[in-house]
Amino acid sequence: MERGLTWTCHICGDTRPDDKISVLTKPNSVGLITLEENIRYCNDRQRCIDGAKDFSFYKEVTVDADTKGKQ
Ligand SMILES: [Zn+2]
Repeated sequence: MERGLTWTCHICGDTRPDDKISVLTKPNSVGLITLEENIRYCNDRQRCIDGAKDFSFYKEVTVDADTKGKQ
């Protein structure tokens, strides 16, 4: 029995029941690598729905393959 299953929203950080959480899967290119991000968000909160579209786990990552390749 998977009763009381909860997830943490990546946008607001709240723990929500399974039926209030949706997952947005989007490909994210980091340099030459394409990663798939699974972003969990509250499907009943407009702020989280909008936030999921902009959210990225790799936002802070700066790829400078050019510099690293030279050695
Ligand atoms: Zn949320």
